[in-house]
Amino acid sequence: MRSVWQNGQLAILRFLEASEAMTAEKLDVELIPAFRDNYIYLLRVPGSDVVGIVDAGDATPAIAELDRQGLALTHIFNTHHHPDHMGGNDALKARFPDAKLIGPLSETARIPGMDLTVADGDKVEFGPLSFKVIEVPGHTRGHVAFWTEKGAAVFSGDTLFAMGCGRMFEGHAAQMWNSLGKLKWLPSVTRVYCGHEYTQTNARFALTVDPDNRTLAARAAEVDHLRAAGKPTIPSTIGLENETNPFLRADEPAIAKAVGLAGADPVQVFAEIRIRKDNF
Ligand SMILES: [Zn+2]
Repeated sequence: MRSVWQNGQLAILRFLEASEAMTAEKLDVELIPAFRDNYIYLLRVPGSDVVGIVDAGDATPAIAELDRQGLALTHIFNTHHHPDHMGGNDALKARFPDAKLIGPLSETARIPGMDLTVADGDKVEFGPLSFKVIEVPGHTRGHVAFWTEKGAAVFSGDTLFAMGCGRMFEGHAAQMWNSLGKLKWLPSVTRVYCGHEYTQTNARFALTVDPDNRTLAARAAEVDHLRAAGKPTIPSTIGLENETNPFLRADEPAIAKAVGLAGADPVQVFAEIRIRKDNF
């Protein structure tokens, strides 16, 4: 027979699970597709006036969605300087002059008109939530991710993708591995919102370097299903990425072995996986 204490523990566990789920709902995130495979994100906090847009490469679909819902934009977040992530800044600012443009301090020269520049560890208030800035260079020199613990979400730009990572245009393997390592340790329930819908190709590649990973195989099948139905595969979660993303798993002996580098340093394994993906 179960003791009162055990019942109490179970009750506490259920309460914690329930409150975790409630917390995650404090940040509403809508996907706005742009260009061929970009995602712009629309952020709202129920009961608050804050309205955010993340990485508007194109202002047109973002403004259309804001207007459709009658929302006044208050925050524009930029993860990095590539045009498909910030090309819509000027048009958004023209339409919503009070919206604050927030982006990496180190990209002041390449992202014009920022109202708030941020660096590693900085906090950005967003109504009742706050975002912590995580510097994740590698794809570009000054790339940042925005993480809200209370909102259980991270906006990872072109650093961490679902089952993939960004190309290293301005960085090197050790740097990108280190950047991904910062995201890897976020709470496993953290929802991952990345810059592109690359998931299906990423899954196909992941299976070539992690062929015995059953969770990966199951996820790849699910992704095929979603894409066949024209549905997005985003968001992922940190927990799922840790189990299925080969770029977060370069320190797994099975992956090192699969790419012919058993016993090698994870950075070397990571570099090899990245080169293989570049040529996939
Ligand atoms: Zn980019």
